[in-house]
This record gives sequence, C-alpha cells and structure tokens, in this order.
Amino acid sequence: MARADDKPGRDCPRCPRLVAFRKSWRTKEPTWFNAPVPSFGLPDARLLIVGLAPGLQGANRTGRPFTGDYAGVLLYETLAKFGFARGDYDARPDDGLELIDCRITNAVRCVPPENKPTPEEIRTCRDFLAPTIAEMKKLIAIVVLGRIAHESAVTTLGAKKSAVPFTHGGQHKLGERLTLFSSYHCSRYNTNTRVLTPEMFHDVFASVRRHLDNT
Ligand code: URA
Repeated sequence: MARADDKPGRDCPRCPRLVAFRKSWRTKEPTWFNAPVPSFGLPDARLLIVGLAPGLQGANRTGRPFTGDYAGVLLYETLAKFGFARGDYDARPDDGLELIDCRITNAVRCVPPENKPTPEEIRTCRDFLAPTIAEMKKLIAIVVLGRIAHESAVTTLGAKKSAVPFTHGGQHKLGERLTLFSSYHCSRYNTNTRVLTPEMFHDVFASVRRHLDNT
C-alpha cells in the first residue's frame, strides 16, 4: 500500500537549492509545471526506466518525464519501436501517448540548475525512487539512463556500486527477479557527440524486449 509521503508533493521542501530554483521559475514562468515531476505509466508495468532529472524546458515545463525534452524524441521513438508505447508522441502530456508494460521515472524529481543534481539531492530523492520501485510488484527489468541513474538505482536496490559498475550496454542480475540494463543517457549532448547513437540505444531496448518476451 503506497503511503502519502511516498511521493513528493508539489511543494516538497527537502532540497533547499532545488526549492529556490523551482520558486524562481514559478515567478518567471507561472504557466509551467514547476514542481516534482511524477512517474509516467502504471505501477503494474514489468519495465521501469530511470532518467536523471527533469529538463528545465522539458519535463519541468510540461509535467511528464522526458516530454518536451530533446532526449524525449529518441526515448519515445525507441519505446514505440520496441512495443513499449503506442500513439503519437507530440511533446505534450495530453498527446495521448500510452506506455505499454513500461513506466518512466527520474532519479531526481525536481529540475536541478544546469541539469546537475548534487550527491545530497540524489541521496534525498532516493526516498521517492525506493517506493516507486517497491510498489512495482511485477517489475523484472530496469533501464537506467546514465551513470547517476545507474548508481542511484543500484544503491536503492541494496547492491554495492563497485559490484555493479556502469557501462553502456551492461546487464546485471540483481536478486531473484530483477535485471538492470544500463545505457548512456539519451541527452542532446550525448547524441550530438555520437557518444550514444540511435542504433546503440535501440540495441539496449532490443535486449530488454527479448528479456521480457522470454521471462
Ligand atoms: N527529462 C527527464 O525527465 N529526465 C531526464 O533524465 C532528462 C530529461
């Protein structure tokens, strides 16, 4: 049973720097979402994707993870390609896009200045990542996007970071039921510099698809 404090409220007070940043954007852009961004997708999904944190003009503006972010274009196109989403992604939370057997969350729920949460903010927000994972009773696969999401998920799951190093394309079995799939983050920087190509990203989700189909 989810508890009321399992999810951050709109005015979550826990990270002073993020609260101040949120307040400044509420003043500058009062029509934006400007609050902790909730997970997208149902808790009975078998797949959870963990991103880093809302982008300022993306999820922080629209209120749905990766929505309106450059990173969302590749992510949602890939999810549709591998049967994890249906409908058209149109960078708006009311575009009708549906996730299939998949849920998306972020390691840090509030937008951080310059996309860089501090270690303390990442640690604090694990109080919300942990129950997000725990309430997913059918969960068998987690895709982590980038090193920060990888390390935060590994710590949340009670494993040692040294035992589960981050590599793009890495797969780790954690406990009886969970497999962790790690990918470089699908950020604009990583895709523009070809650190992550669409093919590399598709390969990760092809493995996830095979895993879900064979489990
Ligand atoms: N938007 C999100 O919601 N998360 C990210 O990690 C990047 C962009």
